[in-house]
Amino acid sequence: MDRPAEIANAPHGRLGEVLEEYWGYDSFRPLQAEAMDCVLAGRDSLVVLPTGGGKSLCYQAPALAMPGVAIIVSPLISLMKDQVDALRANGAPAAFINSSLSPDERRKVTSLVRSGEVKLLYAAPERIVRDQTLQFLSSVDVSFVAIDEAHCVSTWGHDFRPEYTELGRLKQALPGVAIHAYTATAADRVQQDIISGLSLQTPELLIGSFDRPNLVYRVRRGTRKLEQIEQVIARHPGESGIVYCISRNEVERVAGQLKEAGIRAAPYHAGMADTARARNQEAFLTDHIEVIVATVAFGMGIDKPNVRFVVHAGMPKSLEAYVQESGRAGRDGLEAECLLLYSGKDPVLWRRMIEEGEPAAREGALRSLDEMQTFSSAVACRHRAIVEYFGQSFEKENCAACDCCLGELKLAAEPLVNAQKILSCVARLDQRFGAGHTAKVLAGSKDQNVAKFNHTELSTYGILRHEHGTTIRDWIEQLVGQGHLEKVGEYGVLQITAAGRQVLRGETTPVLLAPAKRVKESRSAAEDNWEGVDRGLFDALRELRSELAAERSVPAYIVFGDTALRDMARRRPTTTEAFAEVRGVGAAKLRDFGKVFLEAITQYCTTMGIATDVVEGGQ
Ligand code: ADP
Repeated sequence: MDRPAEIANAPHGRLGEVLEEYWGYDSFRPLQAEAMDCVLAGRDSLVVLPTGGGKSLCYQAPALAMPGVAIIVSPLISLMKDQVDALRANGAPAAFINSSLSPDERRKVTSLVRSGEVKLLYAAPERIVRDQTLQFLSSVDVSFVAIDEAHCVSTWGHDFRPEYTELGRLKQALPGVAIHAYTATAADRVQQDIISGLSLQTPELLIGSFDRPNLVYRVRRGTRKLEQIEQVIARHPGESGIVYCISRNEVERVAGQLKEAGIRAAPYHAGMADTARARNQEAFLTDHIEVIVATVAFGMGIDKPNVRFVVHAGMPKSLEAYVQESGRAGRDGLEAECLLLYSGKDPVLWRRMIEEGEPAAREGALRSLDEMQTFSSAVACRHRAIVEYFGQSFEKENCAACDCCLGELKLAAEPLVNAQKILSCVARLDQRFGAGHTAKVLAGSKDQNVAKFNHTELSTYGILRHEHGTTIRDWIEQLVGQGHLEKVGEYGVLQITAAGRQVLRGETTPVLLAPAKRVKESRSAAEDNWEGVDRGLFDALRELRSELAAERSVPAYIVFGDTALRDMARRRPTTTEAFAEVRGVGAAKLRDFGKVFLEAITQYCTTMGIATDVVEGGQ
């Protein structure tokens, strides 16, 4: 695992050819080469890579390079269909077998497997472990078994599926066939459950970095949520994004408001009728709408690689959930933006739900919530915070891809004095009021509740009157996040902690943010990906992609990913040979789409009078 990057990345032997031929890729993502080597060597393995890390390729490429058929266990029928469609579009012989097929279609698939014409067979776990299926598999040449979303075997995971526990039978039923498990879940105990639950034998453990350098993280207080969401959408015209809300009501409201603002958005939550939900999901996957506004019910099985932004309109309940949900952005490795808007009400809401929920899960859930709150109000590199949370170390001094490291957050002047003013006010209020009321007192508000309690008479009334109300609220949250204040009970009453008393005595200085006025959102290093790209041509090619996808009734990204379109709009090839050089163009795509894209590129470049067949800087 300590191999230099250039060696680890160099595609080798037959796998390199497969990668180029079917996917048009010329290098491996981290750990892909190692994971594929395990498959080729027939050694059991557990591969943990973050969402978008490229797990599918770890088994798909070796399946094409090895004799026999690879069996892929996948939990969702929709996921299976997408993967098989994408593989076939690349010219790879794949099939699935599940309840959506008629008996005739099923017979056809089994006969194709028998004759060796299918190299990858997808199936759901409950079907694989049937005696009849196992008998069939024993009679054909199985190259290996890959278990996708392997964390579903663990009761500790966030997505336990009882049918996964049956998969432990595979080892006995198919002696000598290696099993490879894939997941994005980093928790140690989940990994242990996978190894024992699937009876993996001395597996190679490959755990990737949890950093996603192409994601730019920003955390802001949700002061004018709709406006803040619209600003993100405006930065990504015509591109896909997800807006997560905590409640179904909020989903409906935000989706409605965005539509009114002329944005092609649609809602998604578990309270909707199945048909409406499926329709909206489909519209999002096929790029007929740009923004899906959803609860956490939306996500699993959504393999869309070109999601350019994920906004959380409320704080999620844990950092694991946040990483998973925000991780749905930028799976294609291109830059994407994740904005988390939090408010003091979010933890109160979650706390109530947790307290009403399963008692056994309460303690862990409250701890996770706390950690999430700390992350939200922290004033430190977000990439580092995430990576360290998952027990890994973070090497970079400055990630250049979060609001802290991009210098978008300015530190407040005189943090000690301001913090002392806030803490004294909490003390004067006898530690009996919440953040909202405390902020009003500090700001010298004329609010009737402040007058009613005679808080206008307090010595701390109005001592922060020169600051904006939301800034004071932010500071209170930051003091909570840094453990100087605590929110207690249903109403989040503020109490001073031992650490807070140290601040009052001037022994420690907290960090307070002064939200910079109208900061220009900086560009991340990853945005170099647009270098040399002709935006007009990119847009024209995107339209062409949509038309072709609609004709074939497949999601747009199955025709070409954004990476490929950008590379086309950068290189502007006019010959078949040059087109084959484009990232993401393999043999099948060259055959199926080469001509029509070449025509579009030539026509655009001639009309606009711009250079074609650009070689320099084409990587
Ligand atoms: P995961 O399952 O780990 O979330 P995927 O397998 O869906 O990730 O891969 C995410 C995206 O990255 C896909 O669009 C895939 O084609 C692309 N990808 C995977 N490996 C590579 C590679 N070596 N080079 C370029 N793109 C890749």
